[in-house]
Amino acid sequence: MKPAIGLEMQGITHHFGTLRVVDDVSLSIAPGELVCLLGPSGCGKTTTLRIAAGLESPGSGTVTLNGTLVSGNGIHLPPERRHVGFLFQDYALFPHLRVLGNVEFGVESLAPAQRKARAMEMLEQVGMADYAGAWPHQLSGGQQQRVALARALAPAPALMLLDEPFSGLDKRLRDQIRDETLQVLKRNKVATLMVTHDPEEAMFMADRVAVMRQGKVVQFDRPETLYNAPADPFVAAFFGEVNQWTVRAQGGTAHTALGDFAVPHDGEVEVLARPEALRLVDDGAIVGRVLAARPLGAVSLLHLRLADKWDVRARLACRTLPAEGEIVRLAVDPTQVFLYPRT
Ligand code: ATP
Repeated sequence: MKPAIGLEMQGITHHFGTLRVVDDVSLSIAPGELVCLLGPSGCGKTTTLRIAAGLESPGSGTVTLNGTLVSGNGIHLPPERRHVGFLFQDYALFPHLRVLGNVEFGVESLAPAQRKARAMEMLEQVGMADYAGAWPHQLSGGQQQRVALARALAPAPALMLLDEPFSGLDKRLRDQIRDETLQVLKRNKVATLMVTHDPEEAMFMADRVAVMRQGKVVQFDRPETLYNAPADPFVAAFFGEVNQWTVRAQGGTAHTALGDFAVPHDGEVEVLARPEALRLVDDGAIVGRVLAARPLGAVSLLHLRLADKWDVRARLACRTLPAEGEIVRLAVDPTQVFLYPRT
């Protein structure tokens, strides 16, 4: 069998004292693939990334990089022997080196002419070649981040590790730098592991997302699968606001204000519906009273009461907003309604 290329983490568990912060995590990243670790604060994302980097030695499990065992079974290779590149929130450029010197630093082992050529090639890729002679303090935050990316990629690492790399940038710049970074990573076909707590960022950047909770990966899937087929209520709610109720299913059916849904087991069922699951339709089967209506720009937010007892928030495109107290008819997109047995 050919050894796996890219990153392979198998059964990683790690404790700090008695606290299990990483709990049997397994994931793989192919060259050219970007995987996000996504989850709430303290769920173990950064520790998992640090284990991949070699900054932390896992209590158990193995890490393999391009087919070489780098952690586990008594082996622990330090970060400098793993061929990994880092991009963190603070760009950490060397203040005493110009931009070119910063990028050359990563490829010191090359002969001077090749070193300069490689550094300039990377600066071209991130659109910073004109700033080769500048000092880091003369650059904006976004420009410093581009140089940091060039520096990290110059040695052609086997793995790139990104920890909340855009959180120090303001929103407009963040979107632009995020887009550019993604293109450069893809062009260089490097396996990338990125930590974020922002679901939108994960959806935008990642080929696959590992959603973590309390040290465990609860779902590892493509962004559209996470959004359209979340494994549990936690994942469904993490990707955006949801309406949530508990009902009792009988005879394989859960009766809800949004209609009847078939379920595999009777008993208590959690029903989650995304606000965009509802549409205003003249002959819709669902009748609701408008409690509040607010324009948000491209869409409007309606707060409705269904069947006199189910409150629901709907996000929908409508030019003229219904008035408060008005009775409206709605239809539901059943693919945006999720049912789970209550645990
Ligand atoms: P955040 O999004 O807030 O950065 P995270 O998901 O990256 O969180 P980690 O930084 O991996 O979470 O931390 C997981 C848990 O381990 C937290 O409870 C944290 O307090 C704890 N922890 C992290 N590093 C250490 C350490 N060196 N010593 C003791 N506890 C630690």
